[in-house]
Amino acid sequence: MAKKPLLEFTDRGIYCAQGKFYIDPWKPVDDAVITHAHADHAYWGHKHYLAHHLSREVLLYRLGEINLQTVEYGETVLKNGVSISLYPAGHVIGSAQIRVEYKGEVWVVSGDYKVENDGISTPFEPVKCHHFISECTFGMPVYQWKPQVQTFNEINNWWHNNIENGLATVIVGYSLGKAQRILQNLDLFNGKVYTHGVIENTNEALRRNGVLLNPTERITQESLKEEVRKGIIIAPPSSVGTAWMRKFQPYSFGYCSGWMAIRGAKRRRAADRGFVLSDHADWDGLISAIDATGCECVYLTHGYTATFSRYLNEIGFNAREVHTLYGGEEDPSNLPEGEASNAGESEKKVLPLGENLGGVS
Ligand SMILES: [Zn+2]
Ligand SMILES: [Zn+2]
Repeated sequence: MAKKPLLEFTDRGIYCAQGKFYIDPWKPVDDAVITHAHADHAYWGHKHYLAHHLSREVLLYRLGEINLQTVEYGETVLKNGVSISLYPAGHVIGSAQIRVEYKGEVWVVSGDYKVENDGISTPFEPVKCHHFISECTFGMPVYQWKPQVQTFNEINNWWHNNIENGLATVIVGYSLGKAQRILQNLDLFNGKVYTHGVIENTNEALRRNGVLLNPTERITQESLKEEVRKGIIIAPPSSVGTAWMRKFQPYSFGYCSGWMAIRGAKRRRAADRGFVLSDHADWDGLISAIDATGCECVYLTHGYTATFSRYLNEIGFNAREVHTLYGGEEDPSNLPEGEASNAGESEKKVLPLGENLGGVS
């Protein structure tokens, strides 16, 4: 008789029957363990949340008053004999892989992850397990990231040239993760960093959490166009093509995403520049991460699950696809609109750029 697996895939999310908790559930449950604060993983409506302490303020900002318990990486929480501990996923600040152990059997839920150290998220740490539940957003060989320092050199040079050419610089990345990664890697000798309201709200939440970020200035009605033009503006995907962005004209607009690795992606987003920058593991990163777990079985939750599981089986892993509702902050079908739901508030509610900016010359 086959014994019940420690974690199962249900219509509410990944479930541990022995411990009576869910991991990243998408329907309301009593007990939720959350890998990170992106909207496709952290839903509103659970009775109790467990997450990493660096996710705390962003979760409260996005979900409002919730019953939230936070832990450090490596700390153990027991639920009905099942031990739960969080390990760095390297995806965004506060992101965690969830390790679940019961009677010597170990499962790890990766959440979203990347293996490159981005300098702001605690670097990804491989965790040994029997069963590994992995994302594979970029599980196709065409996705190979170059070291981020190269991409940031391109970004900083582009910004510098824009200043020389009298253009404002608008750089787009989603508000939790990418925006801070960009911020921390900009060459501040070029000028000042301005932020869209959605991004500044997230920055403020992280600062309340004790995260040290470079100085930023929120774009408001009082912002002066000529001043803003000498700096760089970090904006979310939801601002692309809006009146808010048009106020910065003339500008050059750069888009940061893993999808920029494929031809046509830049044109589809009407961007002047596409920068390949992702908070997910690339093809090699996924394979090395899966290999490092030493697992017997891999379950693929979101991304190119069919292609990637076929490949893993060919090279000797025991892999299969599972159906979940994850995928969002960098889902191609969701961009650029995806960011709006991801930001925990609609674009419409964000501080509009005032007439000052349009009028002052
Ligand atoms: Zn994510
Ligand atoms: Zn995700």
